[in-house]
Amino acid sequence: MGKTHSSHPEHELELKNYQKPYICDGCKEFGFGKRYRCEECDYDLHEDCMFKKSTTTHKFFKESTFKFYDKPPRKCDKINCNKCKRYCDACGKHIKGFVYHCDEKGWDLHPCCHNLKNEFKVDGVKFQLGETVSKCSWCNQKKIKDSLSRIKGWSYVSECDTYHFHVYCVMEMLIEAWRNETANSNDCLAVDCLALETLELPIQRVDVNTMIMEITRRETE
Ligand SMILES: [Zn+2]
Ligand SMILES: [Zn+2]
Ligand SMILES: [Zn+2]
Ligand SMILES: [Zn+2]
Ligand SMILES: [Zn+2]
Repeated sequence: MGKTHSSHPEHELELKNYQKPYICDGCKEFGFGKRYRCEECDYDLHEDCMFKKSTTTHKFFKESTFKFYDKPPRKCDKINCNKCKRYCDACGKHIKGFVYHCDEKGWDLHPCCHNLKNEFKVDGVKFQLGETVSKCSWCNQKKIKDSLSRIKGWSYVSECDTYHFHVYCVMEMLIEAWRNETANSNDCLAVDCLALETLELPIQRVDVNTMIMEITRRETE
């Protein structure tokens, strides 16, 4: 059974599960796997964007209340005003659509970043979400690519504390792994992820589907 969403009231959106990534028409970010979709209009929403809450909180921002906005709130009417640009405090990306915003402190979170899993496991290695600012094992930087220096962003950190991955970079890894997989175009779903191999992670072969499932799986439906 489909459901409608205030951002696309004309048709019902149906839950689909395709492997191919998509761009969410709510937050304008990449998504994998599950999506709420209008086939007729080619309109897709993340589960997180479909079931947004009007207000919410987050454990990393104690005592802050976030409100949902269709578009990031602005201070002026100037087009392309840089001062009004908003950046996600989790992944560091420029926010182009749906956002949870804290009016008081000015924090911003993509709906998906707000709902990021606390931990996931790949090949037996457990990763935990943290507010750390250590050097990322993927991009080799402390600062998030394409973001402002004041945005520290979050990372997934391995239990042994050896590997740190920006939330931003985990997304990049998934997109890259998917591209490699389609480029190889064989039936085998497990792909060799070269960059991970050079890091000599215990993860030699990353099963993209498992990783996507692990990261995007929600505790509650
Ligand atoms: Zn979205
Ligand atoms: Zn439609
Ligand atoms: Zn402005
Ligand atoms: Zn984000
Ligand atoms: Zn990184």
